[in-house]
Amino acid sequence: MSEAEFFRLCTTCKKQIGFAADYLQCSVSTCNRNKLAQFFCSLACWDAHLPEARHRDAWAEPMKAPTREAFRREQQEEQDREARSSARESRESAMSDEAEKRRRVVGAQVAAQDLPEDVLVVVSKLKAYVKARSGMNTSDGVVDVLSAKLRKWCDAAIEVAQADGRKTVLDRDFK
Ligand SMILES: [Zn+2]
Ligand SMILES: [Zn+2]
Repeated sequence: MSEAEFFRLCTTCKKQIGFAADYLQCSVSTCNRNKLAQFFCSLACWDAHLPEARHRDAWAEPMKAPTREAFRREQQEEQDREARSSARESRESAMSDEAEKRRRVVGAQVAAQDLPEDVLVVVSKLKAYVKARSGMNTSDGVVDVLSAKLRKWCDAAIEVAQADGRKTVLDRDFK
Protein backbone atom coordinates (compact mmCIF):
# COMPACT_ATOMS: atom_id res chain seq x y z
CA MET A 1 0.00 0.00 0.00
CA SER A 2 1.31 3.43 -0.83
CA GLU A 3 1.91 5.54 2.20
CA ALA A 4 -0.59 8.29 2.91
CA GLU A 5 0.83 11.80 2.74
CA PHE A 6 -1.97 13.33 4.72
CA PHE A 7 -4.80 12.36 7.03
CA ARG A 8 -7.87 13.11 4.89
CA LEU A 9 -9.18 15.40 2.18
CA CYS A 10 -11.68 18.04 3.14
CA THR A 11 -15.10 16.81 2.06
CA THR A 12 -16.02 20.19 0.64
CA CYS A 13 -12.91 21.79 -0.86
CA LYS A 14 -10.73 18.63 -1.18
CA LYS A 15 -7.82 20.37 0.46
CA GLN A 16 -5.54 18.05 2.40
CA ILE A 17 -5.97 17.79 6.14
CA GLY A 18 -2.49 16.94 7.37
CA PHE A 19 -1.39 14.67 10.16
CA ALA A 20 -1.85 16.16 13.62
CA ALA A 21 -3.74 19.06 12.02
CA ASP A 22 -6.89 20.66 13.37
CA TYR A 23 -10.03 19.94 11.46
CA LEU A 24 -13.78 19.95 12.00
CA GLN A 25 -16.23 17.15 12.25
CA CYS A 26 -19.99 17.44 12.00
CA SER A 27 -21.83 16.73 15.24
CA VAL A 28 -24.41 14.59 13.42
CA SER A 29 -23.59 10.89 13.59
CA THR A 30 -24.67 10.11 10.02
CA CYS A 31 -21.91 12.45 8.82
CA ASN A 32 -19.33 10.33 10.64
CA ARG A 33 -20.18 6.83 9.57
CA ASN A 34 -17.18 4.67 8.72
CA LYS A 35 -16.52 4.96 5.00
CA LEU A 36 -18.87 7.87 4.52
CA ALA A 37 -17.36 9.99 7.26
CA GLN A 38 -16.92 13.65 6.42
CA PHE A 39 -14.00 15.88 7.31
CA PHE A 40 -13.85 19.63 7.09
CA CYS A 41 -10.80 21.86 6.96
CA SER A 42 -12.65 24.99 8.00
CA LEU A 43 -15.93 26.26 9.36
CA ALA A 44 -16.81 27.55 5.90
CA CYS A 45 -16.39 24.07 4.46
CA TRP A 46 -18.49 22.59 7.24
CA ASP A 47 -21.17 25.25 6.57
CA ALA A 48 -21.16 24.27 2.92
CA HIS A 49 -22.34 20.72 3.62
CA LEU A 50 -25.37 21.88 5.61
CA PRO A 51 -27.84 22.66 2.79
CA GLU A 52 -27.47 19.16 1.39
CA ALA A 53 -27.34 17.38 4.74
CA ARG A 54 -30.46 19.15 6.03
CA HIS A 55 -29.64 18.53 9.70
CA ARG A 56 -32.14 19.78 12.21
CA ASP A 57 -29.52 20.60 14.76
CA ALA A 58 -25.82 20.49 14.06
CA TRP A 59 -22.54 22.08 15.01
CA ALA A 60 -18.95 21.71 14.02
CA GLU A 61 -16.74 19.86 16.44
CA PRO A 62 -13.07 20.74 16.54
CA MET A 63 -10.94 17.64 16.09
CA LYS A 64 -7.26 16.81 15.96
CA ALA A 65 -6.01 14.57 13.15
CA PRO A 66 -3.87 11.63 14.29
CA THR A 67 -0.13 11.76 13.83
CA ARG A 68 1.36 9.95 10.86
CA GLU A 69 2.45 7.14 13.18
CA ALA A 70 -0.95 6.69 14.80
CA PHE A 71 -2.68 6.86 11.44
CA ARG A 72 -0.40 4.23 9.94
CA ARG A 73 -0.96 1.98 12.93
CA GLU A 74 -4.74 2.31 12.60
CA GLN A 75 -4.61 1.55 8.90
CA GLN A 76 -2.43 -1.48 9.52
CA GLU A 77 -4.88 -2.77 12.09
CA GLU A 78 -7.77 -2.16 9.73
CA GLN A 79 -5.93 -3.98 6.95
CA ASP A 80 -5.15 -6.92 9.20
CA ARG A 81 -8.77 -7.16 10.18
CA GLU A 82 -9.89 -7.13 6.56
CA ALA A 83 -7.26 -9.70 5.59
CA ARG A 84 -8.39 -11.98 8.36
CA SER A 85 -12.04 -11.73 7.45
CA SER A 86 -11.42 -12.20 3.72
CA ALA A 87 -9.24 -15.24 4.46
CA ARG A 88 -12.11 -16.64 6.45
CA GLU A 89 -14.56 -15.92 3.64
CA SER A 90 -12.44 -17.60 1.00
CA ARG A 91 -11.93 -20.60 3.26
CA GLU A 92 -15.66 -20.88 3.71
CA SER A 93 -16.37 -20.54 0.02
CA ALA A 94 -13.68 -23.11 -0.81
CA MET A 95 -15.33 -25.47 1.61
CA SER A 96 -18.74 -25.01 0.06
CA ASP A 97 -17.18 -25.43 -3.41
CA GLU A 98 -15.80 -28.76 -2.28
CA ALA A 99 -19.15 -29.82 -0.90
CA GLU A 100 -20.80 -28.75 -4.12
CA LYS A 101 -18.30 -30.76 -6.13
CA ARG A 102 -18.86 -33.85 -4.03
CA ARG A 103 -22.59 -33.49 -4.45
CA ARG A 104 -22.20 -33.26 -8.20
CA VAL A 105 -19.91 -36.30 -8.29
CA VAL A 106 -22.44 -38.38 -6.42
CA GLY A 107 -25.38 -37.13 -8.45
CA ALA A 108 -23.90 -36.78 -11.90
CA GLN A 109 -20.57 -35.88 -13.38
CA VAL A 110 -18.17 -33.05 -12.95
CA ALA A 111 -16.76 -31.61 -16.14
CA ALA A 112 -13.03 -32.29 -16.42
CA GLN A 113 -12.24 -28.58 -16.59
CA ASP A 114 -13.91 -28.05 -13.19
CA LEU A 115 -11.46 -30.36 -11.48
CA PRO A 116 -8.05 -29.36 -10.14
CA GLU A 117 -5.11 -30.45 -12.28
CA ASP A 118 -3.64 -32.61 -9.56
CA VAL A 119 -0.53 -34.70 -9.88
CA LEU A 120 -1.76 -38.24 -10.41
CA VAL A 121 1.54 -40.09 -10.37
CA VAL A 122 3.80 -40.99 -7.48
CA VAL A 123 6.62 -38.63 -8.33
CA SER A 124 9.32 -40.32 -6.23
CA LYS A 125 8.54 -43.74 -7.71
CA LEU A 126 8.46 -42.38 -11.23
CA LYS A 127 11.82 -40.68 -10.80
CA ALA A 128 13.28 -43.76 -9.14
CA TYR A 129 12.14 -45.90 -12.06
CA VAL A 130 13.67 -43.63 -14.67
CA LYS A 131 16.85 -43.43 -12.65
CA ALA A 132 17.12 -47.18 -12.17
CA ARG A 133 16.34 -47.89 -15.79
CA SER A 134 18.61 -45.29 -17.34
CA GLY A 135 20.56 -43.35 -14.76
CA MET A 136 18.73 -40.24 -15.96
CA ASN A 137 17.01 -37.57 -13.95
CA THR A 138 13.38 -36.65 -14.56
CA SER A 139 12.31 -33.02 -14.89
CA ASP A 140 9.33 -31.88 -12.81
CA GLY A 141 7.34 -30.92 -15.89
CA VAL A 142 7.11 -34.60 -16.83
CA VAL A 143 4.79 -35.17 -13.91
CA ASP A 144 2.20 -32.73 -15.28
CA VAL A 145 2.33 -34.21 -18.77
CA LEU A 146 1.88 -37.73 -17.44
CA SER A 147 -0.94 -36.62 -15.14
CA ALA A 148 -2.71 -35.03 -18.11
CA LYS A 149 -2.31 -38.27 -20.10
CA LEU A 150 -3.71 -40.27 -17.17
CA ARG A 151 -6.71 -37.97 -16.98
CA LYS A 152 -7.35 -38.48 -20.71
CA TRP A 153 -7.08 -42.25 -20.37
CA CYS A 154 -9.39 -42.21 -17.34
CA ASP A 155 -11.94 -40.07 -19.21
CA ALA A 156 -11.96 -42.60 -22.05
CA ALA A 157 -12.27 -45.54 -19.64
CA ILE A 158 -15.13 -43.81 -17.84
CA GLU A 159 -16.98 -43.52 -21.12
CA VAL A 160 -16.51 -47.21 -21.81
CA ALA A 161 -17.78 -48.11 -18.31
CA GLN A 162 -20.74 -45.78 -18.73
CA ALA A 163 -21.63 -47.24 -22.10
CA ASP A 164 -21.61 -50.57 -20.32
CA GLY A 165 -24.00 -49.22 -17.66
CA ARG A 166 -21.45 -49.79 -14.87
CA LYS A 167 -20.64 -47.62 -11.87
CA THR A 168 -17.13 -48.99 -11.59
CA VAL A 169 -14.24 -48.42 -13.94
CA LEU A 170 -12.49 -51.71 -14.63
CA ASP A 171 -9.01 -52.51 -15.88
CA ARG A 172 -10.42 -53.65 -19.17
CA ASP A 173 -11.93 -50.24 -19.81
CA PHE A 174 -8.38 -49.04 -20.46
CA LYS A 175 -7.73 -51.53 -23.24
ZN1 LIG B 1 -12.23 22.59 3.07
ZN1 LIG C 1 -23.30 16.97 8.82
